[in-house]
Amino acid sequence: MRWLLFLMLLAFISCSEKDESIAEELSDGKWIDLSYDFSDKTIYWPTANGFKMDTSFNGTTPGGFYYSAYNYCAAEHGGTHLDAPVHFAKGKWAADEIPLEKLTGAAAIIDVSGKALKDADYLISVNDIEAWEKTNGKLKDDIILLFRTGYGSFYPDAKKYLGTDERGLDAVAKLHFPAIHPDAAEWLVKNRKIKAVGLDVASVDYGQSKDFRTHQILYEQNIPGFENVANLDKLPVKGAFVIALPMKIKGGSGGPLRIVAIVPGKE
Ligand SMILES: [Zn+2]
Repeated sequence: MRWLLFLMLLAFISCSEKDESIAEELSDGKWIDLSYDFSDKTIYWPTANGFKMDTSFNGTTPGGFYYSAYNYCAAEHGGTHLDAPVHFAKGKWAADEIPLEKLTGAAAIIDVSGKALKDADYLISVNDIEAWEKTNGKLKDDIILLFRTGYGSFYPDAKKYLGTDERGLDAVAKLHFPAIHPDAAEWLVKNRKIKAVGLDVASVDYGQSKDFRTHQILYEQNIPGFENVANLDKLPVKGAFVIALPMKIKGGSGGPLRIVAIVPGKE
């Protein structure tokens, strides 16, 4: 009996110590906001409805107190947003079905901006991933993999960011921005265990893609995508912890995403 009490006490102590260390690390770390705000400047796919916010009320009420409330309306895929796997893979997770474990975790950042900023049709290759691994070690299992193309610096200038500021179906052929080569996506699902993929452009497939194969390959494996991710230049290549919480739209193919990272240690 005494032994049991001792063991229970030990378990309690180690448990509370662990709790404290998580709290300490969180309060010591630096939070980085990886989401853009939503407004009439927010970048949407040329065929998607943009963000609209109408004032329901803003001012002093007859009761003498201030009150404001708005109605908003937008497509799922615009601004910083989630692509749920079901966006390109039938039967896979919808926005509300993705386990929180897949949306949170350690992140690795692969910077390809040196090449991508010189070529708006740049495709991130297996070589880029291998080059990162040569310097930083093999990508850890269950990593959230973020690619930095440098195009975030153009946001929200659609002409520079997307290659065109035109809207509608005809504008789609004029899109030019870098993203992930389908071969690199294939290599990742076969050779590495990644939780989610994100990048600082409007799509995981490059602007000129016609078949969206990178979407298909990743989402078929229930790997969610984060698009139009902000501030990737503020993250270390590894060591950051990402929390990506989308709007929980039941059956949604995606949705607005509040994504943040915590980087350990004070500035
Ligand atoms: Zn999307």
